[in-house]
Amino acid sequence: MARRKKIYEGKAKTLFEGPEPGTIVQYFKDDATAFNAEKRDVIEGKGVLNNILSEFFMQGLGQIGVPTHFLKRLNMREQLVRSCEIIPLEVIVRNYAAGSISKRLGIDEGTQLPRPIVEYCYKDDALGDPLVTEEHIAAFGWASQQDMDDILSLALRVNDFLSGVMLAVGIRLVDFKIEIGRVYDGDFQRLVVADEISPDSCRLWDIETGRKLDKDVFRRDLGSLTDAYTEVARRLGVMPNNPPAPGKPTLVN
Ligand code: UDP
Repeated sequence: MARRKKIYEGKAKTLFEGPEPGTIVQYFKDDATAFNAEKRDVIEGKGVLNNILSEFFMQGLGQIGVPTHFLKRLNMREQLVRSCEIIPLEVIVRNYAAGSISKRLGIDEGTQLPRPIVEYCYKDDALGDPLVTEEHIAAFGWASQQDMDDILSLALRVNDFLSGVMLAVGIRLVDFKIEIGRVYDGDFQRLVVADEISPDSCRLWDIETGRKLDKDVFRRDLGSLTDAYTEVARRLGVMPNNPPAPGKPTLVN
């Protein structure tokens, strides 16, 4: 079979040229990295779960009229997306304090914020994705003022959608990161939610117990990441047909 052309290999996904111009195939790997790739491991089944969860969230967003790059899932590890120009920003929305904002501002993890707070980080691994302000974004031309207005409203709509979906299954959406892409339709450009939405890029806490169901399980060595992501998929009713194999074979007498 002819090999597809690889466009880009990231930490958790590989991108291949899609079957038609303007399309890309996103392949979800099992690789997990944290702390700017200083900590890394292979977590069997993570890619399958993230592929299915990202499909679920992107499709849901599409259904409420939030544009995304998602076209369709192709198989257990791959999805077809519209190719777009990624704006070099990580758009972070926070509902509760955790992670870097807790450290930066000395707020206890789990404190509810007075309102959702949107932050922007400049996407540059070598610099460790530094926090930037709209001043930097405008001055360096990463996005226009109109883009920033659109990005803010997209981010807040995604927040409302994801918060509601999660709340319905007993999970608190603490924070998340999205990436935004530009799609060109003739002379016009539109902004779409791109990349992925999965427990790799969200903080998800069980409302009853506070159990972490996201990548902090890996970052902070809190147990099985596959178990945590499987729990999210199970509650949302999107378990893959062939769930990842359990860690160890069991002996049958
Ligand atoms: N996040 C992400 N990719 C990054 C940085 C952050 O997906 O490169 C997500 C992270 O999983 C969390 C949210 O964005 O859900 C806020 O992360 P934070 O700034 O607290 O950074 P961290 O504590 O993860 O370093």
